[in-house]
Amino acid sequence: MSADEVYDLVIVGGGPAGFTAGLYAARSRLKTLLVERLGFGGQLLTYEKVDNYPGFPEGISAFALTELFSAQAFRFGLESRNAEVNGLDLTNSVKTVHLADGQVQARTLIVATGCAPNKLGVPGEAELIGRGVSYCAVCDGPFFRDQDVAVIGGGDTAIEEAIYLTKFARKVIVIHRRDSLRAVRVVQEQAFHNEKIQFRWNTLVTEIRGDQQGVDGALLKDVETQKTEHLPVSGVFVFVGMRPNTGFLPADLERDKAGFLVTDQEMACSLPGVFAAGDVRSKNLRQIATAVGDGATAAYNAERYLEAQA
Ligand code: NAP
Repeated sequence: MSADEVYDLVIVGGGPAGFTAGLYAARSRLKTLLVERLGFGGQLLTYEKVDNYPGFPEGISAFALTELFSAQAFRFGLESRNAEVNGLDLTNSVKTVHLADGQVQARTLIVATGCAPNKLGVPGEAELIGRGVSYCAVCDGPFFRDQDVAVIGGGDTAIEEAIYLTKFARKVIVIHRRDSLRAVRVVQEQAFHNEKIQFRWNTLVTEIRGDQQGVDGALLKDVETQKTEHLPVSGVFVFVGMRPNTGFLPADLERDKAGFLVTDQEMACSLPGVFAAGDVRSKNLRQIATAVGDGATAAYNAERYLEAQA
């Protein structure tokens, strides 16, 4: 692209929301660039199999679904670039996207950067990342064959990943701070019927212990009795929610209390020509199915915005 050329739309983030926005924009013949800092797929690639995306009655591997999303968008002429976005200048009608290796200009922008796992924030956690502390069962599960591991959290991610880890681990102990799970019922039922999964209710992890060799246990505290206990495990998988990937965005783009981007129902953010789609957006249900809907809506409204400006 020459220095004078300006993209109609730049999409930041190459997960389901970003690629759906790319598909819709490319089919509308908008000159569109998708920028992704890592591999295509985003958070989706930390899962093994997807069982609740419509159209795949037997489920589909996360990797295969990512390939399908990207291939379909590229077929219609979506351009892509592998680069980290370091900052944005949104003050002018033509926006500047600052990349690690240069910059691009865009008339509209869709932020589809998703979210990243929260940390527990207990002693030992940071020191033992990669040596037994993990935030990705698909990435690290195979290292724990025939060993005992702990999973922290009670949401969909924690329980789905606990089930996945039973493929490798001898025993998976789910440690949850309350006495009931947040995960969807069908997933709860699968976990309750899995003989390798045990639950520790009303329990917090207050420390993760280990040395250069790796994790050797976790210190637990019963929130009702205040009793503490050392649980011997060689892996601790932390799934305690997500935080949005918004660090590169200007402070005047409106966020909710948890930092997710506030949009209207057309996916428009608080600054003109800027839209958000997928998990980075403030909303109640973060699913692939909702991300693709957001992506389509954002692209459609980016096109309407461009028409109004013309
Ligand atoms: P989540 O739903 O926010 O659940 C986080 C879990 O971690 C909750 O059980 C929470 O406990 C617990 N927790 C939070 N902070 C904690 C702390 N400091 N110490 C101990 N426990 C803590 O997060 P998620 O499971 O990552 O899911 C995020 C979104 O993605 C959700 O909308 C979810 O439905 C969606 N998702 C969907 C699928 C799927 O459909 N297949 C798969 C994965 C994720 P409390 O319950 O007490 O708050």
